[in-house]
Amino acid sequence: MDIKLDPSRDDLPLMANTSHMLVKHYILDLDVDFGNQVIEGNIVLFFGDGNRFKNQSRSTQETFQMESEEADIFRTAEPCHVPEMDSSTFSPKMGHRECAVCGKGDQDAFDNDGNHDNQERDSEISSSKYCCDTGNHGKRDFLLVLDCCDLSVLKVEEVDVAAVPGLEKFTKAPKLLATPEKLRCEIVRDLVALPADAWREQLDCYTRCSQAPGCGELLIDSDNWSLRIRKTGTSTPADFPRAIRIWYKTKPEGQSVAWTTDQNGRPCVYTMGSPINNRALFPCQEPPVAMSTWQATVRAAASFVVLMSGENSAKPTPLREGYMSWHYYVTMPMPASTFAIAVGCWTEMKPKASPPDDLMTEHSLPLSPSEADLRYDNTCNHMEYPCRFQSASAASQDIIPYRVFAPVCLEGACQEALLWLIPSCLSAAHSVLGTHPFSRLDILIVPTNFPSLGMASPHIIFLSQSTLTGTSHLCGTRLCHEIAHSWFGLAIGARDWTEEWLSEGFATHLEDIFWAEAQQLPPHEALEQQELRACLRWHRLQDELRNSPEGMQVLRPNKEETGHVSASGASVVKHGLNPEKGFMQVHYLKGYFLLRFLTRTLGEKIYFPFLRKFVHLFHGQLILSQDFLQMLLENIPENKRLGLSVENIVRDWLECSGIPKALQEERKAEDCSPSRLARQVGSEVAKWIRVNRRPRKRKRGKREVAFEKLSPDQIVLLLEWLLEQKTLSPQTLHCLQQTYHLPEQDAEVRHRWCELVIKHKYTKAYNQVERFLLEDQAMGIYLYGELMVSEDARLQQLAHRCFELVKEHMDRASAQVVTEMLF
Ligand SMILES: [Zn+2]
Repeated sequence: MDIKLDPSRDDLPLMANTSHMLVKHYILDLDVDFGNQVIEGNIVLFFGDGNRFKNQSRSTQETFQMESEEADIFRTAEPCHVPEMDSSTFSPKMGHRECAVCGKGDQDAFDNDGNHDNQERDSEISSSKYCCDTGNHGKRDFLLVLDCCDLSVLKVEEVDVAAVPGLEKFTKAPKLLATPEKLRCEIVRDLVALPADAWREQLDCYTRCSQAPGCGELLIDSDNWSLRIRKTGTSTPADFPRAIRIWYKTKPEGQSVAWTTDQNGRPCVYTMGSPINNRALFPCQEPPVAMSTWQATVRAAASFVVLMSGENSAKPTPLREGYMSWHYYVTMPMPASTFAIAVGCWTEMKPKASPPDDLMTEHSLPLSPSEADLRYDNTCNHMEYPCRFQSASAASQDIIPYRVFAPVCLEGACQEALLWLIPSCLSAAHSVLGTHPFSRLDILIVPTNFPSLGMASPHIIFLSQSTLTGTSHLCGTRLCHEIAHSWFGLAIGARDWTEEWLSEGFATHLEDIFWAEAQQLPPHEALEQQELRACLRWHRLQDELRNSPEGMQVLRPNKEETGHVSASGASVVKHGLNPEKGFMQVHYLKGYFLLRFLTRTLGEKIYFPFLRKFVHLFHGQLILSQDFLQMLLENIPENKRLGLSVENIVRDWLECSGIPKALQEERKAEDCSPSRLARQVGSEVAKWIRVNRRPRKRKRGKREVAFEKLSPDQIVLLLEWLLEQKTLSPQTLHCLQQTYHLPEQDAEVRHRWCELVIKHKYTKAYNQVERFLLEDQAMGIYLYGELMVSEDARLQQLAHRCFELVKEHMDRASAQVVTEMLF
């Protein structure tokens, strides 16, 4: 793919000034209106201190985490590339280090109370421009900046939490002495700081606070990327309201949610993994460092099901006639970007041979974090929350309760391909990594416009219908991949979003391990299967490297600056908005090969026990690449490190483009003596080439060539090798189709088959290409390019015809990529 880089278009700004205030809890109260394609209601945000300000009452673990985060923020050396809204207030010379040293001359909004240190006075691009409003009181007002796109914000008000009766029980606030502002602030401070075992009371108090009346409207203004809120006369974050309510509406064109129809033609809306995450769904703090809990009440017409990232398997409550309300909550703090929601007319799919319903419900009760066996000891390093790793019964639960939802027309496909696989995949993951970080799981088969094969969010996995065709292989591996994200990507998040490999590389590596375990393969067969998949990914990696700019092939593009943000907490994700980036797999593949290299070098007996230990130490936290590498090497005695060091891994694997030398060597060895399954494919390819060369006449005779039965992965490899052939006759293609039943194979196989059909203009199978473009849209994007470069009028028309049919519901990035190919 031809990737154009345009920083103004491609870089994703994170605007929220998380250094000053951090959202600790969100309460969403929303109505879904399918008629107008609008979600409307309010959100209440509860704040704690900013990422830079220490709170005396925090637990030691959290203080530790905060300190290490601060240390990184203060190391920020680069003049920040935050997009400027008012360039006149920003001098590019004011690099952070420079000002942290000199620390004088600049007037920021926080110098009124005289207790800020040098670092806080450094030239905050954002604070200098966000805090430039001086009312008639002579001081600048503090501006709270939230990430926000395409929302109609109607009103923002302070919430009068002091008006809620009965909160004294949980707070230490001396009610009589304080001013109303102080009292409100104290109440939220105490509420946010409640211990983990009081989570139920805490949620309840949050709910009651969220229903309290407003006590004064706040001033707002907004631009393309942010919502800025201030309170006249409030010049420091410490004095800013700790609970605010925002009344707002989404816009139909907002990119966080997709309004579309499901496979039954009924309306639905869902978060399909937009590059801007959830900021067109609710105003939020996007930087991952803002980890918060949330609750949501969502109302929709009674025919709809509301699914969401939530610990409880919500059941609907009837409201006024024809409407239902759904309530979800989470107690584990997560970045706001991980929140997912889907509302549609889906049916819960139950396994055919299911135990009686009452047994099911008993079995499927999520293990509540309030179980008596919770041990609040110091085994976890994250900020305090009711953690499953501390509960013996949760830790031993190999299969967490799950539900599957899909349009009713896909019931048969779900029964055949998916339902029976889930328990073995969940249990395989548990046997490799231990405790499931989340208490339950919903799996949703999403509409055809979903731009990838799967997406994992807390408590909910979206799967493409493309995973349901063919044998269980694609469905199983994809399910394992998404399940792996519960650990890598969700429970352990990347602190710097450009270090994508920390979630995708791990999930890709673990999907093979989980899948082998789920199939209960004997070790040598598991190894063979993994070797074959390495072979396929090697092909793909080489292809991706040929077609992507060098800058985008680096796993840690920010190098030693990784994880750094500006003093306000704002930052920019490089290429975060590049529409083609979503289709690139370099980070998946190179990350996977790095982890495979480490596993092979150190041996599975060392690597996997280490990985469990790593998960135990880092779950509930954000990490950088070096956290993983440092701990890995520290855990291996020096004489067994085999020359590996953090420095050389970073240099050879994380910070270079192209192919690392160790990988080159591994693949060279594989080329010399291929593994058994690849060798088998090799000899089948040779047979096909012979068949293809044979003159047509002789082919009419009896078929003397016997072809071996191949697995789906082997067929993919076979088709990829055949794609390198200049010519394949229609007879050969016909015979290929018949031999491997190609139209009934999984989407990965059919994708390669479509490429062959296009390359050799095998007209008889054009209808299969068309079907692929309509039903397997996530993978079809690549085919549009092939169709256009074929320079064949009929194929190009096919591309245009299919795009016309699907473009309306395509996500913006996909539509943009295809448009660039077609026009
Ligand atoms: Zn924990």
